[in-house]
Amino acid sequence: MSRAELAETILARMGIAGVGDGVRDEDGWRPGSGPALTSTCPTSGHELARVGAASRDEYDVAVEGARDRFHEWRMRPAPVRGELVRALARELREHKQALGELVSLEMGKIRSEGLGEVQEMIDVCDFAVGLSRQLHGLTIASERPKHRMMEQWHPLGPIGIVTAFNFPVAVWAWNAAIAAVCGDPCVWKPSPRTPLCSIATQHLADRAMAACDAEGVWSLVCGGADPSRWMAEDPRLPLVSFTGSTAAGREVAAAVARRLGRSLLELGGNNAVIVAEDADLDLATRAIVFGAVGTAGQRCTSTRRVFAHARVHDELLERLRRAYATVKIGDPLAEGVLMGPLAAPSAVAAYLAALRAAQAQGGVLVCGGGVIEREGNFVEPAIVRAPPPDRFPIAREETFAPILYVFRVESVEEAIAAQNAVAHGLSSAIFTDSVRHAERFLSPGGSDCGIANVNLGTSGAEIGGAFGGEKDTGGGRESGSDAWKAYMRRQTATVNWGGELPLAQGVEFL
Ligand code: NAD
Repeated sequence: MSRAELAETILARMGIAGVGDGVRDEDGWRPGSGPALTSTCPTSGHELARVGAASRDEYDVAVEGARDRFHEWRMRPAPVRGELVRALARELREHKQALGELVSLEMGKIRSEGLGEVQEMIDVCDFAVGLSRQLHGLTIASERPKHRMMEQWHPLGPIGIVTAFNFPVAVWAWNAAIAAVCGDPCVWKPSPRTPLCSIATQHLADRAMAACDAEGVWSLVCGGADPSRWMAEDPRLPLVSFTGSTAAGREVAAAVARRLGRSLLELGGNNAVIVAEDADLDLATRAIVFGAVGTAGQRCTSTRRVFAHARVHDELLERLRRAYATVKIGDPLAEGVLMGPLAAPSAVAAYLAALRAAQAQGGVLVCGGGVIEREGNFVEPAIVRAPPPDRFPIAREETFAPILYVFRVESVEEAIAAQNAVAHGLSSAIFTDSVRHAERFLSPGGSDCGIANVNLGTSGAEIGGAFGGEKDTGGGRESGSDAWKAYMRRQTATVNWGGELPLAQGVEFL
């Protein structure tokens, strides 16, 4: 069976036939008359399908539809809005296997990670359903007699969601589930590399919307960079949630800021693990291999740098080398495979260029470094023994590939400083049995990242916590905790239930 036939079979299991239409608005599916997108299987290099992208006019229709829907949707009680998300979770549970396999086929992550991505969607839906009864504000003591002051959270408006190729469905769910209970319809612009995943997800969303009389709450505009640029400049969208590279996020954020809109940015990462002299090396090795090799190094939270104390450096390096030798590389849908392909030939070129730069800057290749001779974009995961960080600028860049730079350090203090000396600030970890090292790492002078872990790796976050990072990662927070506040507007309301009109700060007038 060809890969294109496999895609059709998986979609058929979800009850979806025909995926050429790249636009779904309040009135239904449209072919999309913008430039066609080609979905290419990273495992075989063959075409999976062609999808019509949205033209500017079609984009406008989708945004207008979301705007119209907003007027009704914001007035539905939040727990009733939660019913829509509950219905989506039902669809996702029913089709978890098929959607997870489609993610694996089109994006290239292994089956277990594809299923994990769909589970993440289910988890965030469950979270959002609970949240629909907890969108609460504060009541604040007023200084004026017979006055009550309170904070209310109201729906913000239709929002634009732009997503990256490496989490082709989960990132939409992080945004769409929470935004929906907050009262905001969403227009989704997925990655042009993964249109099938987004179309399949939208079909499940359609069924949930039909069950809840909620057509138009979630709509889809496939396309390349253009629709996300339109979103960035579009005053009808008070919030644009953008996930992708720092370079693209910078452009989007600047355009949104020019119109004084809000952006929620989830950009690149350059994540590090510190291995202290007293670390449990079994734990550290397993966590580093998952962090660096999982998803072929194509997670925003992938482990890219290790700072190992001189006392454990050589042993850790040897353990990592041995573990890397056992990683089975191949078809991500096949049993036992732990690493699939890179997204595209350009990613293979970036991998090779980074390794050339690393060696030119004094790095020593410990293992990997080659392109695997077969169809698709397969490379070997690489470990590089790195010179001191100030002489190794390549390690300050995010290369979206399985390359791990291992540095030798003399202390946890030195490791924390080196870890923080990069532009990104997403995820970080320390392996130690010392409460002092752990607390130093978590203190205000410790890790400067949005995520800081002790004795677990940098990737694989749960949805209950707020997800995101600082500096060039963009500062956004999505998913759990109080990330919902980004999707709402805060209103301070004061009610005077007395017969006087006392002014604040004791001001006298009239
Ligand atoms: P990308 O920046 O190439 O594309 C992301 C999205 O932005 C796509 O939908 C794309 O069409 C659009 N886009 C691209 N260029 C644009 C531009 N100039 N203006 C407006 N829109 C543009 O990123 P990618 O290769 O799909 O994904 C990998 C990147 O995403 C990595 O840097 C990774 O770290 C990051 N990422 C971050 C998170 C996070 O939560 N922090 C999660 C996943 C991925």
